[in-house]
Amino acid sequence: MPFSDTLAHSPTALLETVFDALPDSVFLIDPDTSRIVYCNRAAWSDLGYDQASDLLDHSVLSLQKDVIGPEQWRSIAIEIRARSPYVFIGRHRHRQGWELPVEVYTSCFEFDGRDYFLSVARDITTRTQLERELSARDAQLRFALNEASDGLWDWDIISGSVFFSPQLKRMLGYGPEELAPHLSSWADNIHPDDVVWVRSVIDDHLAGRRERFEAEYRLRNRNGHYLWVHDRGRICERDPDGRPLRMVGMVHNVTDRKNLELRLQRLASHDSLTGLLNRRESEIILETQISLCRRLQLPLGICLFDLDNFKSINDVHGHLCGDQVLAGVAELFNQHVRSADYLFRWGGEEFMLICVDTTLEQLQQRVEGLRTLLESKTWDTLPALGKVTASFGIAVFPDHGDSARELFIAADAALYRAKSCGRNRVELADTWPANTFTP
Ligand code: GH3
Ligand code: MG
Ligand code: MG
Repeated sequence: MPFSDTLAHSPTALLETVFDALPDSVFLIDPDTSRIVYCNRAAWSDLGYDQASDLLDHSVLSLQKDVIGPEQWRSIAIEIRARSPYVFIGRHRHRQGWELPVEVYTSCFEFDGRDYFLSVARDITTRTQLERELSARDAQLRFALNEASDGLWDWDIISGSVFFSPQLKRMLGYGPEELAPHLSSWADNIHPDDVVWVRSVIDDHLAGRRERFEAEYRLRNRNGHYLWVHDRGRICERDPDGRPLRMVGMVHNVTDRKNLELRLQRLASHDSLTGLLNRRESEIILETQISLCRRLQLPLGICLFDLDNFKSINDVHGHLCGDQVLAGVAELFNQHVRSADYLFRWGGEEFMLICVDTTLEQLQQRVEGLRTLLESKTWDTLPALGKVTASFGIAVFPDHGDSARELFIAADAALYRAKSCGRNRVELADTWPANTFTP
C-alpha cells in the first residue's frame, strides 16, 4: 500500500509506530501538572520500564535528578515557553536507581486550545564518556606542552607562521608573549655556521629525500648566547596533491651533553700543554690532506722541527721553565702560520707543520721565517733563558714522497741532517725516488 494511503487509513497507528522507532526518548508533558501524557518506546525502555503505561501520569520530576519540586518546575516551564526549544543537560533516573546522562530538547506547542511540552531526550552516556576522555587527554597534552623538557613547534608551511610552545620559549629565555610566531624567529637565530646545512636537512625532508628532519645545531637564546639543541620534526599534513602543509617537531636542549662531548673530543685530539693538535691527529690529518692534494693535484709541504738542546733548558732552568718554552714556541708559531696550515705537537719537544698547496720554495721560505722568528724571540718572563732555537726538516708531496709515511721519513731525515750540521737551520729532504736507488 502506498505511504499516502497508509497515512490516510490509520494515521494514529502510523505515527505511533514512527515514534516508537525513534532511538531518542519522546515525552509529551502537561505544562501545568508536569505529568507525562504520552511517551514512546525508547522513553520507557531506556528507563527500565516494561510499557508506556508505567510512566504515564507520572510527573517528569519523578524521572529527574536535577529538577526538584514544583517550584523549580514552574520556573523551568516559564523558560520553556519563553525560548523554545529549551535545552537541558541533566540526569534521568533509571528504574534500577542508577543515573542516565541526557540532553533534553523541550519545545512548547498548542493543540486543541491547550499547551503541551514536547521533550526529546537523548542518552549521552557515550558522548559524556568521550568528552571526559578528551578533556583528560587535553590536560595531558597541555601538561606536555607546558612542562615537558622538550620544546614543541608547529609550522604552517604555507603561511610561514610557527607556534612555539611555552617551554620552547622558556628554553630560549623568552616570556610566553615574546618571540613572534614566525619562521624567521627560529631561522634568524641559528648559528651562522649551522644555518645552511640545517636548512638543507629541512629541504631534504620537505622534498621527500629524508624520512624526517633531525639535526643538532646551535640556536641563539634571548641573551645572545648559543644553546646546542637536538631538533626533530616531521610533516604531519599534506594537501590532496601530497604537498606539505604542516610540520611539527620537538627541540631538546643538549648544551651540557654537547659541551662535554666537545671537551672530550678536544682532550682526545689536542695537547693540553700547548693547546696544539696532537700526534694522533697529525697522522689522520696528514693522510686526508695528502689524498685531497692528490685529487686536486696540489703540492703539500710538511716540516718536522725539534727544539735544540732542550734537555739542557730543563736541566739548567727546571722542567717548569721547559714547559713554558714549549707553550711559548707553540703560541709564537701558531700566530705566524696561515689559517689553512696545521701545527701539531708531535712528541716531547718535537713539532710538525702541514702546509697544503705549498711548493718546496714557499715552504722553505716560510719555515726559514719561523726559524729566525724563534731565534730572535726574547723571553721576557724567563730572563735567564737566552736564545731558544730549533732545527727544521722539510719535505714536499709529491717530490719527496707519495704517502704520509714516505713524506714523514724524508722530513725526519732532513731534520736529522739539520741537527748534525750544527742545529738552528732548515734542511730540505733529498729528492725522491732518486735517493732510493743511491747505493
Ligand atoms: P737536540 O738538540 O739534539 O734535540 O737535543 P735535546 O736536548 O733537545 O734532545 P733530547 O731528545 O735529548 O731531549 C729532549 C728533552 O725534552 C728530554 C725530555 O725530558 C724533554 N721533554 C720532553 N717532553 C717534555 C715536556 O713536556 N716538558 C718538559 N719540560 N720537557 C720535556
Ligand atoms: Mg731536541
Ligand atoms: Mg727530540
